Amino acid sequence: AFDVLVVGGGPAGASAAVYAARKGLRTGVLAERFGGQVADTVGIENFISVQYTEGPKLVNALEAHVRQYEVDIMNNQRATKLSKSEQVELELANGAVLKSKTLILAPGARWREMNVPGEQEYRGKGVAYCPHCDGPLFKGKKVAVIGGGNSGIEAAIDLAGIVEHVTVLEFAAELRADAVLVKKANSMGNITIITEAQTTEVTGDGNKVNGLQYTDRNTGNSHHIELAGIFVQIGLVPNTEWLRGAVELSPRGEIIVDERGQTSLPGVFAAGDATTVPYKQIVIAMGSGANASLGAFDYLIRH
Ligand code: FAD
Repeated sequence: AFDVLVVGGGPAGASAAVYAARKGLRTGVLAERFGGQVADTVGIENFISVQYTEGPKLVNALEAHVRQYEVDIMNNQRATKLSKSEQVELELANGAVLKSKTLILAPGARWREMNVPGEQEYRGKGVAYCPHCDGPLFKGKKVAVIGGGNSGIEAAIDLAGIVEHVTVLEFAAELRADAVLVKKANSMGNITIITEAQTTEVTGDGNKVNGLQYTDRNTGNSHHIELAGIFVQIGLVPNTEWLRGAVELSPRGEIIVDERGQTSLPGVFAAGDATTVPYKQIVIAMGSGANASLGAFDYLIRH
């Protein structure tokens, strides 16, 4: 049995594992795919103290750091069920059951995709999901934001300070964002908001995005907009479907944690994008992984 078992091999899980191992605890890391979202990232320019790196390079560095300690890394394994009696029990898709005194959940999240032609082809070539990460790549260019909820309008306001022009496309007739954000967006000279717009295709020249096609749901007419970038802001889905009923989740499915990363189930902690921590970034995931690990250590010395 483990002292600390970590579910997730992204920045949150890797950080939690290093912190646990450095306390001399028997530590295991279970990951469906070590590296998590970082493995899908091209350029990273906001991992503080590293001016520029790339996803696969950072994944290798994360793994090397974890392997420097006696951590049992179980890659390509998926957890399917969590329960607790004396110890925490984790059931895997392959039927195995792992036991541990404490558990750190760091299963991350995935961006909700539009599922239209061109989206996958131009992912990282103009199709982006993180304005904080990729906004500066479109300096002085025209971009669109898909989604008129809070994250979409926040993204538009953020991007409007960097890019030449932002077009927001919202599927519904009304924006779902808070009025204060909509007011701010309307006050900026370079944001156009189009409602009742259904994006139907991402277009490109074979190498990068050059625009998008949308249908005006009111008239049924199709239109093309020329763009260099498309930011998809239609939600972030936490990978927590399998935890329903085991730990308390927010209405959005995020694991509810306190300031020590403790979940509703004693001895079970959580970190990173899968939790109610409001901002989803690599440095934040790593910090919360360290935090949850120290929370687990604190729990172990008291039990
Ligand atoms: P994740 O990275 O999502 O890792 C989750 C881990 O859990 C994975 O190993 C996964 O396989 C595993 N897992 C999930 N479910 C299970 C299960 N049931 N059983 C076992 N394992 C499971 N942030 C920045 O700071 N800068 C950037 O430039 C940047 N660019 C980005 C670009 C893209 C394209 C994307 C998608 C994200 C980007 N982000 C960026 C966001 C950043 O990647 C995330 O905030 C960060 O990776 C979250 O870390 P995490 O460890 O919480 O989760």
